[in-house]
Formats: sequence, structure tokens, C-alpha cells
Amino acid sequence: MATGPIGSVILGLYEQGMTASPAQRAALLAQAGGEKANATLGDADRAAWRILTRYFGPAQDAVLTCPSCGAEVEFTLPANFSPPEAETEADLTIQYKGAAITLRLPRLSDLQNGPFDPRKLAPDAHWTDPDFRKAAEAALMAADPALKCDLALSCAACDTDQTQVLDVTGFVWARIEQAARALVRDVAKLARFYGWSEAEITAMTPVRRAIYLREMDE
Ligand SMILES: [Zn+2]
Repeated sequence: MATGPIGSVILGLYEQGMTASPAQRAALLAQAGGEKANATLGDADRAAWRILTRYFGPAQDAVLTCPSCGAEVEFTLPANFSPPEAETEADLTIQYKGAAITLRLPRLSDLQNGPFDPRKLAPDAHWTDPDFRKAAEAALMAADPALKCDLALSCAACDTDQTQVLDVTGFVWARIEQAARALVRDVAKLARFYGWSEAEITAMTPVRRAIYLREMDE
């Protein structure tokens, strides 16, 4: 049986993340999913995805904009979709122009103070050299493929097959926001009609709330 959202948890996450930056939301979701505040970005995405499937079930609908024609493409992610597991989380060594360069995986803390700066992963590396950058990105992706989750999509409007990158924590956050706002509307209706408190209403299962909402409309 699919477990529905636990109202108070969803509302709690929404409250904490509402005015936060995307990076802070990623950290919030990672911790809610059982990771440390300074998890690798791959672990953070996997933790956020666990939250999503725990509260909203295994299949997810999404809407992305087609880069070819601008239409909104609605699709359902496969039920077994999840960010892939890491091959390794240890530091990586890459050979570049005869030198061995040590690289670590990006972490949540790398995003907290302004835009991501790759020099944090290897301070002395040649990040301005596009060939080095390419080699470093390939090594990072091989170590943790969740750093870039590609989705193969087909646009019904213009019939183009395309690959889009899924922003995992952004996607999970959007789902939480949508659920929290719907929940607040339900709480307002039920509180007015039955006189219950927010705590009482959000502790109910979604099915139980739906039963009472339906009775109100009878
Ligand atoms: Zn299109």
C-alpha cells in the first residue's frame, strides 16, 4: 500500500524551507532523509528522493519545458526511478598532463556561500583549462552518477526526443510545496467546519481528511 503524506511532517518541512535558498533546501531535505548536513551532493539527492517516495509513493509526475518548441511536457517518471548509487565516495586521483591531481566529491557545504566554485574540490588544479575541467567532470560523474540525473523525454507537441537534466532537490521541493499548500487549504476548511486544530487535522491520514471533506460537501 502506498503511504500518503504525513501532514505534519510535510507542513514542517515546508515551514523550514519556505524562505530558504535552494542550497539550504537541499540540506534540509538531506537531513530529513537521514543524511548529514554536509553530505555529498549525490547522497543529498538520494536522501531527498527517499523523502519523496516515502511520502508520495514510487511514481512521480513531472512537467518540464521542451527546449525545442517551448511546450510543457507532462510525463511520469518510471516507478523504479531514483538517482543512481555512488561507485565511490573516496577522493579521486586523476592524471592530467603528467601530474596526479586529487579531487573530492562536491558537498552541500560547497553550495552554501554563493555559487559553486570547483576550486573547492581541488584547490591547485587547472580549472581554467577546459580539457582539465572535462576530465575532472567525467571522473566525478563516474564516481557518483547521481551528480547529473538525465531524463530521456519525448515531446508530444513537436515529436522531439530529448534529454533533460533533473534537478532532484528542486523537483522534490516543488512536490512538497504543492502538497503543503493543498494541506493548508484543507486545514482551513476543516478547522472552520469542525472546529479542529491544525495539529489534529495534520495528524490524520490523507484518506481520513478526504472522508471529512467529502461529508462537508454533502
Ligand atoms: Zn516540443
